[in-house]
Amino acid sequence: LPTVVIVGRPNVGKSTLFNAILGQRKSITGDEPGITRDRIIGDAVHFNRPFQLIDTGGIVPEDAEWIPAQILKQARVALDVADQIIFLIDGRTEITSADRDLAQILRRLGKPVTLAVNKIDVAKRESLTTAFFELGFKDVMSVSAEHRLGLEELLDHVTRDFTEVEPVDPEEQAGKLRPIRVSIIGRPNVGKSTLLNAMVGGERAIVSPIAGTTRDSVDEHTIIEGREYVFVDTAGIRRKGKTHLMAEKLSVVMARRNIRMAHIALLVIDATEGPVGSDATIGGYAHEEGRALVICVNKWDLLPENKRKEFEQNIRDEFKFLDYAPIVFLSAKEKKGINSLFRHIATVYENFDKRVSTGELNRFVDMLKLERDRRIFFMTQPSVRPPTFVLFMDRGEPLHFSTERQVINRIRKKFGFDGTPIVLKIKARR
Ligand code: GDP
Repeated sequence: LPTVVIVGRPNVGKSTLFNAILGQRKSITGDEPGITRDRIIGDAVHFNRPFQLIDTGGIVPEDAEWIPAQILKQARVALDVADQIIFLIDGRTEITSADRDLAQILRRLGKPVTLAVNKIDVAKRESLTTAFFELGFKDVMSVSAEHRLGLEELLDHVTRDFTEVEPVDPEEQAGKLRPIRVSIIGRPNVGKSTLLNAMVGGERAIVSPIAGTTRDSVDEHTIIEGREYVFVDTAGIRRKGKTHLMAEKLSVVMARRNIRMAHIALLVIDATEGPVGSDATIGGYAHEEGRALVICVNKWDLLPENKRKEFEQNIRDEFKFLDYAPIVFLSAKEKKGINSLFRHIATVYENFDKRVSTGELNRFVDMLKLERDRRIFFMTQPSVRPPTFVLFMDRGEPLHFSTERQVINRIRKKFGFDGTPIVLKIKARR
């Protein structure tokens, strides 16, 4: 999807514009400092031209001291993926040095920039708009984000080269582009918070802590290669239990809660301890809740590389029911294996969200041979996240455990559902 990024110095109205384009008034905006924003990225469509919209206002705190270099660093990921940039300035005020600095930075990117002069409802429209040409952009438009004036013209212009698509089911489309919600789970001291830091920290990503529903839970947002990831309850990951036993129990309770809020669980295992009983308990929750799973063997820097096969086999033996979960060896501390982990997460989410057509499923059913007395007439996949299949059979009673497992394995082999549990439901053919 083409990406449009809104940039500008604090308080020019970025968040208001962002919400106006996405057509929602819900997000909190205002001049008061310290206000949190609830979204920094969203999906929009302008006359059948879909695009992704990023508000860098959520990246740079409004009350941060203005340092263009720092802003650029933080917004770099957004600007890197931008196909079109909307440079927003305040039409009520004189051009500030911050505007000029930012203009210079944006010009150097060599990407299409549209200068949008905001708050024209209160500005003297004509005179001010011409003054802003001095910033050196040929595309200058005036808008009022708050009163939704000029937005249509702005979007006509910005999306002019974007591909038009057939109108699609908006829900389906939203599903495809939804942020991937990730929960990092595991026993104390396996390296969960170190891994979180390795995944969201440094310059690899945009980080924006966003207050969640309960006071002490915080979700962290990160964009990697144009894809948004939400790390669920990072406050909980970083919080340390008082005693070891307490922490151990707490980690199990928390895992269960957080898995429900996530699409994908990262089960972190300490390589120096190997897979232990409570690792399996925690992994089992992800399975029961129907969430995708990646097994992360952390602290791999402390083991010799030639142990990998043996370790992998060990995990497969201990966690038989999690045989679909990919295993990633990494060192959170040395930031090794992190890119590979992100690739696995993206693939696993794709599978978690994958739909097989009824036509394909029924060609597949024809090849399935079950126990002699059971017969599948046809098969559908009514839902995703997790992929759920309905088998229409002679009788509605459940399949024998081993038969169910066999069908699931055949589905995996044929269609590839690495990392995600598969749910089977049986219905009697009527
Ligand atoms: P948490 O309780 O699961 O969040 O674990 P922490 O992230 O606090 O890590 C526990 C300890 O393990 C800390 O001393 C970390 O420095 C260390 N640690 C974490 N990841 C690694 C790693 O990849 N390699 C090594 N050698 N140590 C690590």
